Amino acid sequence: MRVLVTGGAGFLGSHLCERLLNDGHEVVCLDNFFTGSKRNIRHLQDSRNFELIRHDITQPILLEVDRIYNLACPASPIHYQYNPVKTTKTSVMGAINMLGLAKRVKARILQASTSEIYGDPQVHPQVESYWGNVNTLGPRSCYDEGKRVAETLMMDYHRQNNVDIRIIRIFNTYGPRMAKNDGRVVSNFILQALKGEDITVYGKGEQTRSFCFVSDLIEGMVRMMNAPNFIGPVNLGNPTETTILEFAERIIELTGSKSKIKYEPLPADDPQQRRPDITLARTVLDWEPTVPLQEGLLQTVEYFRSVLGMG
Ligand code: NAD
Ligand code: UDP
Repeated sequence: MRVLVTGGAGFLGSHLCERLLNDGHEVVCLDNFFTGSKRNIRHLQDSRNFELIRHDITQPILLEVDRIYNLACPASPIHYQYNPVKTTKTSVMGAINMLGLAKRVKARILQASTSEIYGDPQVHPQVESYWGNVNTLGPRSCYDEGKRVAETLMMDYHRQNNVDIRIIRIFNTYGPRMAKNDGRVVSNFILQALKGEDITVYGKGEQTRSFCFVSDLIEGMVRMMNAPNFIGPVNLGNPTETTILEFAERIIELTGSKSKIKYEPLPADDPQQRRPDITLARTVLDWEPTVPLQEGLLQTVEYFRSVLGMG
């Protein structure tokens, strides 16, 4: 099959392109390189089944493809708040353009949605039937509301035009090729620990997250795309929950760092707790994460060591 991956030069997109090539597909990687990089996909460019297109999905494009994975959108708070109007445009106009393409060429389309659509959740752990608690006015809204509208567009193109859709809600995912400047907690803490700098815990560090290793996430994503007669939405993430303070201590221990913890203000609207209920993914996709946090973190630390030239 010929498969389009938007945001294919990003963290998740580059791992997905690699997986799809290994599965024998032709891959068209589309990216505007806002947060992605050519370095992420350099190792794929010798493959004759790989094609790279520099394009911004806020503009329409016509391509003959059988499947579309729509991942294009900055994902870390620093990056999506850098140009918030553009972030909303990318989610909303990007979804319209990709759904229009899917409709025209009769491709199946998977939307990378997010746990952020649950906002600061009042239901814990989060189940797919929960409608969420999102501030429409805050600094995170450009991302959260953009992704919520993208889900709405997916459902409406499905109901109105019979487009074959899949929706996944991705929870915090980490691993090699995360951008080192994206301010996310995993990259920040590992880099700070390796450089012996203070570890910046926001707030009291009592907020929780649940971290999924990238290979597990990609497996779930591919299973969802291939699932017959199931459009989702489905949560994909690791249900092992940790406080941010515990996470900081774990990174210090794992890297043998002398870094100390430094407390900084909690950003506005930072969700207090987050953990996916993955019953649906287990039942319908026969999927659950298999990589323990310790093992995934060791691989990620190795990656950042090499990025820093530490061998
Ligand atoms: P990333 O920033 O590494 O990748 C996003 C990619 O999209 C980048 O390569 C970027 O250059 C590209 N892009 C951004 N705007 C674009 C535009 N207008 N046109 C074309 N390309 C554009 O982020 P990621 O972590 O790989 O996330 C990929 C997708 O998964 C995003 O849609 C994100 O919202 C979703 N997601 C990720 C996580 C996570 O923990 N990584 C969690 C929830 C959802
Ligand atoms: N965080 C932190 N220190 C950092 C970066 C992030 O304490 O240097 C916290 C942040 O406030 C949030 C959690 O870690 O509670 C996860 O942040 P991230 O930006 O990785 O993802 P998201 O908030 O989108 O889940």
